[in-house]
Amino acid sequence: MLNAKPLVVITGASSGFGAEDAKLFNAAGYPMLLLGRRVEKIKALPLNFDNVLVDAVDVTDQAALAAAIRQAEAQYGPTDLLINNAGVMLLGNVTRQDPKEWQTMLDTNVMGVLNGTQIVLPGMIERQHGTIINMSSIAGFKAFANHAAYVASKFGVHGLSETIRQEVANDNVRISLVAPGAGETELLTHVTDASALKDYEAWKDTMGGLTLDPKYVAQTVKFIYDMPQEVNVREIDLAATRQD
Ligand code: NDP
Repeated sequence: MLNAKPLVVITGASSGFGAEDAKLFNAAGYPMLLLGRRVEKIKALPLNFDNVLVDAVDVTDQAALAAAIRQAEAQYGPTDLLINNAGVMLLGNVTRQDPKEWQTMLDTNVMGVLNGTQIVLPGMIERQHGTIINMSSIAGFKAFANHAAYVASKFGVHGLSETIRQEVANDNVRISLVAPGAGETELLTHVTDASALKDYEAWKDTMGGLTLDPKYVAQTVKFIYDMPQEVNVREIDLAATRQD
């Protein structure tokens, strides 16, 4: 049986912005597929799990991602909103950073977005309805020291989003970007370069330590989706007021 509200798929729902998105769409009654590698963290979120599916999926594995989405669609109907949120930021100076960290960022932040997009887009085109919201960053249009591969990945998200938007605009499918500034999430916990991390913390101090509360990012995502289908909010960037 189809739900009154359509299926929302969120990648990287186990923490940070994705977890806040999940709370907001759950409160609004949307059936959801929540994805992340740490499913126990998703299952611990304060949600009503009546119409929520949770799956351990790495977004770099397109087959696994497709299988999870198809299974959710069999239960809740076609995906109407995909939030390509999963991402990783491994700060590091390019002279000493392990290239494996560059690969992780490019695979997750760029390939992950393309993987999810390719899975849901044909159905959206066929139905002439659907929305994909890609989580980029202010680092998607502005460079920061010690962010070379991350900036490359997020500039990539900006480029691919606008390209795909142009490709599907006539099919009534929306492609949107949210580009937040620094937010209080788990993003920095994976950084291995202590010196780059110290520089980042010093930069955050210039904002009086105040960064974006993830709930405002989720509200932005919801605002974009709640616009009528004939309106594509192409991009919103938001940051703490004190961020440079
Ligand atoms: P978090 O680290 O809190 O969340 C990242 C999420 O991505 C986690 O749920 C993680 O889940 C998931 N993830 C990471 N790698 C993979 C993978 N290979 N497969 C599946 N899921 C994965 O950080 P944020 O909430 O901050 O990050 C969310 C998005 O926002 C990212 O795209 C990030 O680049 C972007 N962003 C963040 C900013 C910030 O300052 N916080 C600023 C601008 C943009 P799990 O580990 O369970 O797989």
